[in-house]
Amino acid sequence: MENTQQQEHVHVLIIGSGPAGYTAAIYAARANLKPVLYQGIQPGGQLTITTEVENYPGYPEGIQGPEMMVDFEKQATRMGADIRYGMATAVDFSVRPYRVIIEEEKVITADAVIIATGASAKWLGLPSEQRLNGSGVSACAVCDGFFFRGKEVAIVGAGDTAAEEALYLSKMCSTVHMVVRRNEMRASKIMQERVMRTSNIIIYWNSETAEVLGDNKVEAVKLLNNQTNAETIVPVSAFFVAIGHQPNSGIFTGFLEMDDQGYIKTIPGTTCTNLEGVFACGDVQDKIYRQAVTAAGSGCMAALDAERYLSALEHAQQQQQQPVAQAQ
Ligand code: NDP
Repeated sequence: MENTQQQEHVHVLIIGSGPAGYTAAIYAARANLKPVLYQGIQPGGQLTITTEVENYPGYPEGIQGPEMMVDFEKQATRMGADIRYGMATAVDFSVRPYRVIIEEEKVITADAVIIATGASAKWLGLPSEQRLNGSGVSACAVCDGFFFRGKEVAIVGAGDTAAEEALYLSKMCSTVHMVVRRNEMRASKIMQERVMRTSNIIIYWNSETAEVLGDNKVEAVKLLNNQTNAETIVPVSAFFVAIGHQPNSGIFTGFLEMDDQGYIKTIPGTTCTNLEGVFACGDVQDKIYRQAVTAAGSGCMAALDAERYLSALEHAQQQQQQPVAQAQ
């Protein structure tokens, strides 16, 4: 941190630019907190890699994910938020004001910090999965399942997310082919039972995905049984990956309390972390709902929590100064 050149103090610093970060910026700017938002490596966050969003209220005709994020950014800018391209690469929350390093070049000190760095879906790492991403390959059944109603689809994963998404898909797709790499599922017993009881979910045990097939869109998936080496080609229109998410919380390790998967812990019903003046919103603290609308809602909460915190701080500072002023 000593080698960094530029320094700047801001009142409220927002890190991250998905629905949570931009909503926090809109609310903080309207409360005259003069927020500065650093967008990170993927401005707009996970929504910039989805196609159409049909479940965000207020868009009756649906909207493309990237376009929606441009709208969020424009709204935050119009309210007066200072939106900047740049990535927070380190923090020091052991000193006040809190210090955040931007790309090892600049030190920002802030009275309050709102973390909205999101989470990233884990992928299998197959070239065909990457090539067909957005053309039938998706990491979000709730976002994209609707486009494949009446069709056969596949989903890989065996945790609670995969179970929940397989059940969700089973309500609209004709058949859900569920690819499980072991001979058992990690999902909670109740979710497993629900999956097993659903007649249009077919489970492929001990199976791994060798390749997603299709030229311009998903047409089939090639599975390999890891016990028998038998290959199966299953014709499907979509391939959902549900093998977990990774919260983008690495730089806060050692300062903020997290669960065993790295999700930042917040006090239930608030966005407060274990550190006063540091707030977390969106997917970096939510492993259950993970929707644009819930992220936006928690971004609003973070700005309101920050506003209350800062006005209480200001009030306390004024109280401290008062007896000195009287004595003079
Ligand atoms: P998990 O880490 O729990 O599960 C990931 C699943 O993906 C595992 O079954 C794992 O297999 C499988 N997997 C990982 N890598 C691969 C791979 N390369 N190829 C094939 N399969 C792979 O992630 P989830 O997102 O399901 O859940 C995260 C957390 O969120 C959990 O604590 C879960 O309980 C919680 N959650 C709770 C919900 C709720 O309460 N409603 C809803 C959703 C999630 P293996 O088992 O072999 O390791």
